[in-house]
Amino acid sequence: MWDSHWLTNNGELHQKLENQLVEYLDVSYLTLFTNGHLALENVIAAFDLSGEAITTPYTFISTTNAIVRNGLTPVFCDINPVDYTIDVNQIESLITEETSAIVPVHVYGNICDVEKIEQLALKHELKVIYDAAHAFGVRLNGHGIGNYGDASMFSFHATKVFNTIEGGAISYRDEALKEDLESLKNFGLSAEDAIFIGNNAKMNEFQAAMGICNLRHVNEDIAKRKAVAERYDEHLNGINGIILNQSQSSVESNYSYYPVVFDGYNKTRDQVFSELKEYDINARKYFYPLISDYSVYRGKHNSNDTPVAKHIADHVLTLPMYASLSIDDVDKICAVIKK
Ligand SMILES: *Cc1c(COP(=O)(O)O)cnc(C)c1O
Repeated sequence: MWDSHWLTNNGELHQKLENQLVEYLDVSYLTLFTNGHLALENVIAAFDLSGEAITTPYTFISTTNAIVRNGLTPVFCDINPVDYTIDVNQIESLITEETSAIVPVHVYGNICDVEKIEQLALKHELKVIYDAAHAFGVRLNGHGIGNYGDASMFSFHATKVFNTIEGGAISYRDEALKEDLESLKNFGLSAEDAIFIGNNAKMNEFQAAMGICNLRHVNEDIAKRKAVAERYDEHLNGINGIILNQSQSSVESNYSYYPVVFDGYNKTRDQVFSELKEYDINARKYFYPLISDYSVYRGKHNSNDTPVAKHIADHVLTLPMYASLSIDDVDKICAVIKK
């Protein structure tokens, strides 16, 4: 990086990472951003949408903020209790004259029903923009998950399966989107003109270098995560009141999170959370609270309108999950939960 004297603005490493990710994610086109959130905000801006966007409250606040900061009204659809993604059977009842997009979220490495969503989008002429922050490297029938919908946002935040410290990308199928995204993330500039009122969301060379290094290890990391997930399964399967995530057929997951729903267990979710903490084990209430329960959204939205999402948010914990987590530690974590 020092040798090239090129620190940001589509540098050599940026170009290299972009090409490597097109290949790794098995997508047609990809544009890098300084983080996942700004990637999502900018792609919504590129589609120049207005009115309402159907999404779920069972996500990270970034999804909803990106919708609202583009002047759109989020309409919350409930999730299904099986894989925690948008309940596709409820989407149609929420479509109005105002609806311009669906912004579904892939959750924990589980994917949405992309086929059904595509049918609905075609029928009602809606854009589909996936929040794929949890879905790096996930494949459906052998194809990269970033091929579905009009665009997908990936996050490369330090906590994700693949990271560039901070970072993100948009994948898409329509080449025409490339110029608009390049412009939007660079103040709206294009040659000597400005074609958008853009912001600054460019990935720098340090981030790209980090990504190139980490990408070499990502397959190995996902394999280690899988072994961790399988060990958790062995310990926790079949226990009354503990509901585990079921793997989806035809999907190669990335094992980005290990969610457990404590429903009817002899301790509540909050008790398990606190007792794990006493052993320095940091589980996460994720996602909790629901987006509709944050004070900035409460009043405009009612979390009781999405009872499944509310129930899961009140009962879920994601257990520690990372590539270097030892099987020994998984055994210890499970021993505390069972005790
Ligand atoms: C991490 C995350 C984001 C935001 O990505 P950043 O890279 O942190 O900006 C958005 N949505 C979901 C579901 C996430 O998990």
